[in-house]
Amino acid sequence: MTQTENKAVAYDVQQGVATLTMQSAPVNALSRALRVGLIDGIEQAINDESVKAIVVTSALPIFSGGADISEFAGGDLSPNLPEVLEKIENASKPVVAVLPGPAFGGGLEVALACHHRITFADNKVGLPEVNLGILPGAGGTQRLPRLADAQTALTMIVTGKPTSVLKLPGVFDKISDKPEHLLEDTKAYLASLGGATAIKRTCDISLTMSDETQAVFDAVVAQTKKASKGFFAPLKCIEAVRGAYTLAFEDGLKNEGKLFMECMNTPQARAQQHFFFAERAAGHVSDFDKSTPERAIEKVAIIGAGTMGGGIAMNFANAGIPVTMLELKEEALQKGLALIRKNYENSAKKGKLTQEQVESRMALLSGTTTYDDLSDVDLVIEAVFEKMEVKKTVFSTLDRVCKPGAILASNTSTLDIDEIATSTSRPQDVIGLHFFSPANVMRLLEVVKAEKTSPEVIKTCMKMAKRIKKVAVLVGVCFGFVGNRMIEPYGREANRLLLEGASPEQVDKVLTDFGMPMGPFTMGDMAGLDIGYYVRQSRQEHIAHDPAYGAVADRLVEMDRNGLKTGRGTYNYEPGSRVPIPDPEVLDIAKKEAQRLGVEQRSDISDDEILVRVMFSLINEGACILEEGIAAKSSDIDVIYVYGYGFPVFRGGPMQYADEVGLQTILDKLTTYRDQLGDYGKMWLEPSDLLVKLAQEGGSFKHYKK
Ligand code: NAD
Repeated sequence: MTQTENKAVAYDVQQGVATLTMQSAPVNALSRALRVGLIDGIEQAINDESVKAIVVTSALPIFSGGADISEFAGGDLSPNLPEVLEKIENASKPVVAVLPGPAFGGGLEVALACHHRITFADNKVGLPEVNLGILPGAGGTQRLPRLADAQTALTMIVTGKPTSVLKLPGVFDKISDKPEHLLEDTKAYLASLGGATAIKRTCDISLTMSDETQAVFDAVVAQTKKASKGFFAPLKCIEAVRGAYTLAFEDGLKNEGKLFMECMNTPQARAQQHFFFAERAAGHVSDFDKSTPERAIEKVAIIGAGTMGGGIAMNFANAGIPVTMLELKEEALQKGLALIRKNYENSAKKGKLTQEQVESRMALLSGTTTYDDLSDVDLVIEAVFEKMEVKKTVFSTLDRVCKPGAILASNTSTLDIDEIATSTSRPQDVIGLHFFSPANVMRLLEVVKAEKTSPEVIKTCMKMAKRIKKVAVLVGVCFGFVGNRMIEPYGREANRLLLEGASPEQVDKVLTDFGMPMGPFTMGDMAGLDIGYYVRQSRQEHIAHDPAYGAVADRLVEMDRNGLKTGRGTYNYEPGSRVPIPDPEVLDIAKKEAQRLGVEQRSDISDDEILVRVMFSLINEGACILEEGIAAKSSDIDVIYVYGYGFPVFRGGPMQYADEVGLQTILDKLTTYRDQLGDYGKMWLEPSDLLVKLAQEGGSFKHYKK
C-alpha cells in the first residue's frame, strides 16, 4: 500500500487495484490541487507493476460538483482539466469511475473520460455549464453524445438540468440498486474486467450525422431558439455537440474549446457567473453570525386567507410545516381554504402532485376565527388588507395572544414596519416577510429588518426561507423596500413616455427585446391598474408637484379600465385571453392628457430613449437604495430583480447590467435626458449622488461598500 501526500486525492492500492479517492470538501470542486492529485495518482498507478486497474471515486456524498469557479478569474491553471482527462483516457490500465453521489459539470466529464462507469440507481448527473453562460469545456460535448444518444446529450447540455442515471444506460456500465451495494458490485465488476474491452476509450467511438440525428438537431435548435430567447450559450452548446458527429474526436475537442472561449468572453457569461455568486452571497449577511441563536419554527399561523395568505400558507404546507389560517369570518376562511385545495387539485391534475400528497398537505392546514388558537405558534405572518390601522390592530392582538419569542411578521408591500412594530410590546420580534405574488410560485422573499428587529429573528427568518425553498434577501425599511421602490421610477418613465407620444406597444417591445418577460404596460394590466392608482393616491405628497404623474393611467382607472381583470386596461383583452390587444383609444387619451397638461407630444421617441429613461431610472433608484444601505450590496438588488421581476439572468440583474454598460455611460445618458426634458427632467431624472461619485472614480456598483 502506498499513500501520496496530496490532500485533495487519497491514493491507495489494495489487491492490484489503485483507488484515487477525491476528498476535497465540500463538493470535490476540481481545483488545481485536485487535478494534480488525479494526474499524479494515475501516473503512480501506471508505474506500479502490481496495479492492474484504477478506480476514481469520492469520499464525499458527491462524486464532484465540477469546476472550481473561483478559478475562472485566472491564476495558475495547469494542469487544466482537459489535460487530466487526456491522461485518464489514455491510461494503459483500465480506469473505472465509481460514483457514490452526483457528478456535475467537470465532475461528470471526469467520469466520461474514464473507461468504465459504475453508480447506483437513485443517482443524478448533469452538465450545468450553460447556466453560467458557457458550455462543458473538458470534452463533455464530445464524450457524452458518444455514450448517450443525441437527444439525451443535447437536452442535458442545452438545458443544464440534472438527469437520472437510469435514463443514461449507455453511460453507465453497471448501476447498483442501492448505494450500499456499490462497493461489492464494483469488486465484482473489476474482477470481470479483462481482454479487449478492459480499456474502453470513449474517444474511440465514432459517430456520424444520420438523417435521423440531423432531425434531432433541427428540432432542438428550433426549441432552444424559443425557450432560451436572448441567451448566447445554448446555441453554442448545440454547435459543440454537432462537432461530435461531424468532426474527428481531436477536432471536435478543438471546436469545443473555441466555442467555450467565445462564450466565456461574453457579457452574458460574466453576468451569469456574477449571478451564481450573487445568489449565494444573498444568504451572507453581517447582521448575525454563527454564534447568533436560531429559534425553532415548528408551527406557523397566517392572518388573512386572501390572495397572499393562501399562497404563503402553501409554502409551509409544502415543506411539511403545520399552518393555522386566521380570518375574522368563517365564510372568508372557508373560501381561502377552498382556494388552496383547488390550487393543489390543479397541480394533481397536471401530474405534479399525487392525490395522497394533496391530502397530506391539506391535512397540515387548519383554520380558525379565534386569535386564542395562536397561543403556541412560533411564527405568525400577517397578510390582511394594506391599511396601517388594520395592521396595527392585528399586531396588538398578536402581542396579547402569542407566546414570548414568537416571531411576528408582516407581508406588507408598502407600510412602515417600524410603525407596525410600535403596536406591540416586542418590536425585537417584529419583521417584514415580503412574499411576491403568486406566493406559492415566486421564489423571492424580501426579509425586511426593522430598526429594532433582533439578529436572532433575522437569522431565523433567513434560514426558514431555505426550508420553504425561497431565495431570501435581507433589506431595510423604506417605501416599497427594494423591488417595488425601484419599479416605481420604471413605471413612471413608461407612463411619461406614453404621454409624450410613445405607444404602449413600443415601450413594451423595447423592454421585452431587452429580455424582460413582459413590458411595463402589460405588467400593469396584469397587476391591475387600480393598484397603482391607489398607491399614487396615498403618495400625493411625493408626486403632487408633477400634475402629469401617472395621468394616463389615472384616466384609464377612472374609466374602469383596470387591466386584465376588467378585460380592458392599457390594452384590450378578449374574454378568457391574456393576449394584449393595442387600443387606439388609449393613444387618444394620452394625446388629450398631453394637451391638457401642456406636454409636447413627439413622434421621434427612439427605442434607445425608451430603454435609457425606463431602465436607467430603475438603476438610478437602485443606486439610492445602495447609498442609503437599504440593500447591503448591489448583488442583492440583482437577486431581487431576477427572482422577483424576471429580469433576464443573462444580464445578471440591473446593477450588474449597469456595471457592464459602464457607470459613466449610464450617468451621461441620464444627464442628457435630464437636460433635454426641462422641468420634468429636473424633477425626476437627477442622477443619484452615488452614481455620480462612482462614475467619477471609475468605480462599479459591484465593488461599492457603504
Ligand atoms: P386580499 O384582499 O386578497 O386578502 C386579504 C385577506 O385578509 C382577506 O381575505 C380579508 O378577509 C382578510 N382580512 C382583512 N382584515 C383582517 C383581519 N383584521 N383579520 C384577519 N383577516 C383579515 O389581499 P392580498 O392581495 O392577499 O394582500 C394582503 C397583504 O399582502 C397586503 O398587505 C398586501 O400589500 C400584501 N402583498 C400583496 C401582494 C399582491 O400582489 N397581492 C404582493 C405582496 C404583498
